[in-house]
Amino acid sequence: MNADAPLLAVRDLHVEFSVRGEGLLAPRRTLRAVNGVSFEIRPGETLGIVGESGCGKSTLARAILNLVPSQSGSIAWMGQEMRGAGASQWQAVRRHAQMVFQDPLASLNPRMNVAQIVGEPLRTHRPELSAAQVRERVAAMLDRVGLGAAHLNRYPHEFSGGQCQRIGIARALILEPRLVVCDEPVSALDVSIQAQIINLLQDLQQEMGLALVFIAHDLAVVRHVSQRILVMYLGRVMELAAKEALYSQPRHPYTQALLASVPIPDPRLERAKKVQLLQGELPSPLALPGGCVFRTRCPRAFDKCAAEVPPLAAVDAQSRAACWLYE
Ligand code: SF4
Repeated sequence: MNADAPLLAVRDLHVEFSVRGEGLLAPRRTLRAVNGVSFEIRPGETLGIVGESGCGKSTLARAILNLVPSQSGSIAWMGQEMRGAGASQWQAVRRHAQMVFQDPLASLNPRMNVAQIVGEPLRTHRPELSAAQVRERVAAMLDRVGLGAAHLNRYPHEFSGGQCQRIGIARALILEPRLVVCDEPVSALDVSIQAQIINLLQDLQQEMGLALVFIAHDLAVVRHVSQRILVMYLGRVMELAAKEALYSQPRHPYTQALLASVPIPDPRLERAKKVQLLQGELPSPLALPGGCVFRTRCPRAFDKCAAEVPPLAAVDAQSRAACWLYE
């Protein structure tokens, strides 16, 4: 592995699913969930990924850890190509790259107690550790996520949503990974608990030097945690920019509409907002619009937008956007 390479570099990744058409004899159709996505992440960095439900964020998260198969492109872990790699090579990467899931309770095995759930990655990846050493490390990790060793013998149904997510975070961090992919880790939690979980993730990130891929549909959450932000729409990257640039000068019309739809707490300012909100429904990923995928909802679309797919190109030093306005 190349120590100077990004921790993770994804190039032109495509993920497709074959789905049944409507009707008994209807032919199968191709759902393009991730359509030519590229990005990289460096050690200790947080990359936020945002977009509406159904835009391919969660599929992308699973594909980069090989939890769903990808059809083409490249997934390089520290310079080593992993797409097409065998189970043992992925097993070695998973020692360093873990995932925190959206639904904390559903992601925990109800038949295992907390000691078994959090200790499972250690038993898989560190077979040299004795049972006592595993239990000791699990107890220490539970302390770090604010639960305490008293919970070791309890089962997932005995915990609140926020506590279940702390268990999920403990399970993801027990191997001291270099990268954690967080797939909407707070969207199933009460607002009051969301801040606690985000603060916990940030504290652990600083303490352990972790890189995070943080997926959310809430722009405020992503703003709080990320250094760079990638905006997705119908499986494609619309904009990739430094956080400050994205929030102060969003370039892509989709990013502008997403930001405009975030309410301003001051009613006077909210009423005075003169921005174009996102119109219409998200098209089906089974029938993607030709040309720019955002053109059916874009207030600035023009002829070329229907004819050709805009590439993700540099607008300035801070931002890249897939939009013909910046040709
Ligand atoms: S390429 Fe055209 S349709 Fe797409 S975002 Fe830009 S202006 Fe809108």
